[in-house]
Amino acid sequence: MRIFDPHIHMTSRTTDDYERMAAAGVRAVVEPAFWLGQPRTSVDSFVDYFDSLIGWEPFRAGQFGVRHHATVALNPKEANDPRCRPVLDLLPRYLEKDGVVAVGEIGYDSMTPEEDEVFAAQLALALAHDLPALVHTPHRDKARGVERTLAVVAESGIAPGRVVLDHLNEVTVELVRDTGCWLGFSIYPETKMSPPRMVELLKRYGTERMLVNSAADWGRSDPLLTRATGEAMLLAGFDADDVDRVLWRNPVEFYGRSGRLDLRDVDAPESTFAGNSILRGGS
Ligand SMILES: [Zn+2]
Repeated sequence: MRIFDPHIHMTSRTTDDYERMAAAGVRAVVEPAFWLGQPRTSVDSFVDYFDSLIGWEPFRAGQFGVRHHATVALNPKEANDPRCRPVLDLLPRYLEKDGVVAVGEIGYDSMTPEEDEVFAAQLALALAHDLPALVHTPHRDKARGVERTLAVVAESGIAPGRVVLDHLNEVTVELVRDTGCWLGFSIYPETKMSPPRMVELLKRYGTERMLVNSAADWGRSDPLLTRATGEAMLLAGFDADDVDRVLWRNPVEFYGRSGRLDLRDVDAPESTFAGNSILRGGS
């Protein structure tokens, strides 16, 4: 099983996680810039963070045979902090970097006027830099958040096929399915979306434009839930090609739209892939 985790915050994970992920078949990841759990007090803090997302973290991942890309943005939560707003002026510099494959995470947290402004400004940046956009949907008041998100996306003029709405569930999937946007699902250990629930959604809506991620961070999360979802798919009667589409080819197609995805040496089909053979124990 070859796995591309399209949304995972490796900065907050250990090298043991990289090792276990590689052994489970994770060959590539996208790490979106996000909130760090406590407020940043200046723009300089973003500079160091973005630098580590395109420098140190790809190096760390590479030691385990995992290819690492990033997305950069001012996240929705910190869009409300005036100290962070100047980050918008810093972004163009990072959006030109090779390892940056989208603008994200952007979108809504509490749906404030400040978030409106910053969301629209960053969709404009995605257009200007010809990059896809990774859009976080709020965990509270989800349906209203998704409706408002779709309206802002439509207004921006960005092609829906270059946008993923993430953290969807059984309710919000209905709102996004026919818009042409990509559908992202974050699989969590105890709450929200689980592998069996994800399998039900794939049965009902098919595999097209569907992305599955672990969204693992410093909270309760599990970077191996992509693999668990692939296994649940197989048990439910999907074949290996369906699993490969959802866990590999779909994220490759979506982030490939940046023109910057570099998967040399990691994208060979399972049967011929030599990477991580020691870690994988031949399995
Ligand atoms: Zn995230």
